[in-house]
Amino acid sequence: MMVQEHINTLIKLQEIDGEIYRLKDEKSSKPAEKEALKEAFAQKEKTLKDKGEELKSAQLKRKEHEMEMETKEKEIKKYQTQLLQVKTNKEYLSLQKEIAGLKADNAVLEDDILQWMEKIDKIKAETTEEKEKLALEEKKLKEETIKIDQEIKAIEQKLSSLEKERTQVSSNVEKSLLSRYERILKAKEGLALVALSGESCGGCHRVLPPQIINEVRMKDKIVTCEFCARLLYYPE
Ligand SMILES: [Zn+2]
Repeated sequence: MMVQEHINTLIKLQEIDGEIYRLKDEKSSKPAEKEALKEAFAQKEKTLKDKGEELKSAQLKRKEHEMEMETKEKEIKKYQTQLLQVKTNKEYLSLQKEIAGLKADNAVLEDDILQWMEKIDKIKAETTEEKEKLALEEKKLKEETIKIDQEIKAIEQKLSSLEKERTQVSSNVEKSLLSRYERILKAKEGLALVALSGESCGGCHRVLPPQIINEVRMKDKIVTCEFCARLLYYPE
């Protein structure tokens, strides 16, 4: 067999191997894609959960204010009853002052309560909105996950047909040359055979000495790049 024939077979093999490496790489990135989608969804779920906590704490604040107001309300009533029974003007004024103070407190509390009620309504509306968004996101997550699984399956199918093709093509390569090629393939992550690119190696892009270039052109032996050890061929 002529060297050129070996090279032609290796070119075919390298094409297949390049594709195999590319597909394996693509396949290996898929679980991370799924994980990222899941994580983004979990983040949105947390936003909704946080809203729930925010609502609970707002409702609690409102309740606290209402209870405080009720207590003061009772005190006012108590003082008003006492007001009917006082003997001195001084006592009367002091009770009235107490009542006025409590009423002022309650006016502030009432404002606060109204503000909390508004806030609660706002949180509730936001929660409804978030829930709707999350339902859509969940649907999207399921669809995207299915899509990625389908992509993985398609890659696996392509890989299995490429492996078959590879077995067939590699059976035409001389054993020692094949094992040399495969060793480089493994070490150089899927690129063992490269064309000259002008005066440079098509793999590591370093400029090769003229003698090497000539040897590659002569096609009477398999030449390797002295820098990256890849097999070289002369592009037609
Ligand atoms: Zn090189």
